[in-house]
Amino acid sequence: MKLTSNFTLEELIHSNTAKNRGIDNTPNQQALDNLTRLAKEVLQPIRTEWGKPLIVSSGYRSYRLNQAVRGAANSDHRYGAAADIHTLTNYASDNKKLFDLITKMASEGKIHCRQIIDEYGYQWVHVSINHPKNLERHNQILHLK
Ligand SMILES: [Zn+2]
Repeated sequence: MKLTSNFTLEELIHSNTAKNRGIDNTPNQQALDNLTRLAKEVLQPIRTEWGKPLIVSSGYRSYRLNQAVRGAANSDHRYGAAADIHTLTNYASDNKKLFDLITKMASEGKIHCRQIIDEYGYQWVHVSINHPKNLERHNQILHLK
């Protein structure tokens, strides 16, 4: 199901770990609503500005999937409110350009994120939106080592 012109629900709930281990990763209505908002308000504007395909490596994670990948207990992924994205080449240098574009868009008010995180030297970029189950933040920028 298409959520925006460049993002489908399927790619936001897909997980190889879930598939391989037979873990159900079907979002509930609340997570569906968050995924839709994430795609419309954050992912699509970034994709449009970037101008090239973006790869979603992880979006929604059910309780069991989040445990399987050792995600933080209250991770925004649990609520369909976060996505890990990277560029087509997946070079750290290109992912850094993507990160810089995202933080610039946030500072210009073109998108509003809960957090924008450079994960482990630009291996991927985590973006999330505010939702009722987690503390509200406004474009918090983090670099994880
Ligand atoms: Zn993440």
